[in-house]
Amino acid sequence: MKQITLLYHDVLEEGAHQQSGFPDPAAARYKLGRAAFVEHLQAINTVLQSQPITIEQLPQVTQQPIPFTIGFDDGGVSSATIIAEELGQFDWKGHFFITTDWIGKPGFVNENQIRELDAAGHRIGSHTCSHPNPMSQCSQSQLVGEWTQSIARLSDILGHSVEVASIPGGAYGKNVARAAATAGIRWLFTSEPVRASWQINGCTMLGRYGIECEDAPRKAAAFVAEDWTVLTREWMAWNAKKTIKRVGGTLYYKLRRWQQNLRHDDKQ
Ligand SMILES: [Zn+2]
Repeated sequence: MKQITLLYHDVLEEGAHQQSGFPDPAAARYKLGRAAFVEHLQAINTVLQSQPITIEQLPQVTQQPIPFTIGFDDGGVSSATIIAEELGQFDWKGHFFITTDWIGKPGFVNENQIRELDAAGHRIGSHTCSHPNPMSQCSQSQLVGEWTQSIARLSDILGHSVEVASIPGGAYGKNVARAAATAGIRWLFTSEPVRASWQINGCTMLGRYGIECEDAPRKAAAFVAEDWTVLTREWMAWNAKKTIKRVGGTLYYKLRRWQQNLRHDDKQ
C-alpha cells in the first residue's frame, strides 16, 4: 500500500509562536502562519485528484492516483481553533496526533476540543504521553507505557478505541514500532519521507513528508503530485541527517539545541 502523507504541526495567527503547541524555539520552525497554511492547502488542492482519505480507508482505496492524507502533530490548540476550520473550507478530514500529558495546558487542546474534532470526522491519534526525544532511545517498558497510556487516555475521552499514532521527533526504530503494536496501535506514522508502508507485528508503518515554516506551498504540492525530484531530494536530505544522528549520537541533539537557542536569541 502506498500513500502520500503531509506532516504539519501548529498554525498561528499573527504573533508569538507560543500561542499553540510546544513553546520551545525548536518547535517554532514547524509552525506556519494562518495565511501561509491556507496557501499550502490551495496549492495542494490544485494537484489533488481525489479527496484526502482517513487512514483506515487505505486498504480499500484504489492506488491510482496515490491516496493522500494530511496530519498534524503535537496537539496544539490551533488544531481546534484554526486548522479544522481551514480544512473545512475544502471539506477535508485530517489526523490530529495528541501529546496526552499536555491536554488542557496553555497552548494545547482540551478534552472538549478533542471530542469536537472527532465528531467532525477527523481522526484522533496518539503522539505519546510526554513526547520523549529521541524516543528510540527509551527503554522497552517506557515505550510500551508511552503508547499504552496515551491510547487509553484518548479512548477514554472519546468513548471509542484509538488505533492510530505518530512518532515524536521522527525517531523511528523497530523498538518503537514493536511497542506500538503491543499497545494495540494499528497505524503508526513515522517521519520517514517515503510513500511505501511496511508491517511490524501487525502494525502498519507509514511514511510522511514534513513541512516546515520556510517551505513554500509549491513544495507541499510537489510532494502530493509525486514530483520525483522533490521526493528524492527530501529522501536524501533525511538520510544524510539520520547518518549524522547515528554517528554523532547525543552530541547531535546537544548541538541542535544549542544552534536553535542561538537562532532564537538572534530573533529577540
Ligand atoms: Zn511532535
